[in-house]
Amino acid sequence: MEEIKDIKVNNVTAEPVLKPFFADKNKRAFWVAGPCSAESESQVLDTAHALASANIDLFRAGIWKPRTRPNSFEGIGTDGLKWLNRVTAETGLKVCTEVANTKHVEACLKHNIDVLWIGARTTVSPFAVQEIANALQGTDVKVMIKNPINPDLKLWVGAIERIAKAGIEQIAVIHRGFSSFEKNKYRNQPRWQIAIELKSQFPDITMICDSSHISGSRDLLEEVAQKALDLNYDGIMMEVHPNPDIALSDADQQITPATFMEMKARLKYRPAEIDDSAFIESLGNLRLQIDEIDDEIISLMNSRMEIVDQIGAYKKRNNISILQTKRWSEIMERCIAKGNELGLSTDFISNMLKAVHQESINRQHKILNRED
Ligand code: PEP
Ligand code: MN
Repeated sequence: MEEIKDIKVNNVTAEPVLKPFFADKNKRAFWVAGPCSAESESQVLDTAHALASANIDLFRAGIWKPRTRPNSFEGIGTDGLKWLNRVTAETGLKVCTEVANTKHVEACLKHNIDVLWIGARTTVSPFAVQEIANALQGTDVKVMIKNPINPDLKLWVGAIERIAKAGIEQIAVIHRGFSSFEKNKYRNQPRWQIAIELKSQFPDITMICDSSHISGSRDLLEEVAQKALDLNYDGIMMEVHPNPDIALSDADQQITPATFMEMKARLKYRPAEIDDSAFIESLGNLRLQIDEIDDEIISLMNSRMEIVDQIGAYKKRNNISILQTKRWSEIMERCIAKGNELGLSTDFISNMLKAVHQESINRQHKILNRED
């Protein structure tokens, strides 16, 4: 786990009251899929028809594309909204697109787009988020807020607060990873602990993982999505294109509808809690046993340290050094062998013993240097 000290949020205002983003939250995953960009009417409709049979909840397509460099495809613009309306008319799918300013919001509201999302490059700007919040005032459209591109939890929290203050009650967040200067296997580093910290501040918020923008390549998509589901995320967003290799944006990370369907079928969603009372009771019993064993381990550790202190006093009287490496190696070897016999890994035993040994050394150091 990476350090989370630098991203802790202090003095957050009271948590906004949110309505559930979708009906079966905590029972199943919520699926958002569709192309990175709406490129043509036929590309949008072909993808939507293929995805309608994949049981997704929401169809995505970017109409206004925030591209890092100019002279890239910057989106089809307002015309694409009519294509999204055709998607709903022909497939029954609900639709979403990215908004970055008042004009985008107004155009989407005019076209009854079901869900709007705020992109990572917009969440970084409180001015832009506030402009969107003002345009949303008095409406009941659903909003998804992507994390800012930089690992700043406060900006993400601030965007949620601004949208909630505008009266929007159905808000989801999308974790799409964070840019970093260093090269690594992800396009955007997940830094899972930031999303987990957000979730602990807004326990009821719907958290969706955009595995496409975290991965940046097709081969990582599935493991990222499964990890998110294992961390109890509520849903997954994936970019799907009928012919990914010729996509006008994010070609490397998009997959075909067929690949998407296979992946979706393999991904496992396990709810965090269930209602089954027999299960809850036996889990409770097992946890009770764990707590008792932990208490015993701590009390045994204390007895061990009392003996360590006696040895420290003895070493002091006889004027010998704290560390006898031969003895330490013997302890290690003996315990690892014993642990291995019981099926405990060498790594586990060795890490545990190192922590115990460090504490023993610290205590003996104090005793040896005590004036008495
Ligand atoms: C997108 O979803 O296509 C997009 C532009 O995402 P992000 O804001 O996460 O970069
Ligand atoms: Mn994209």
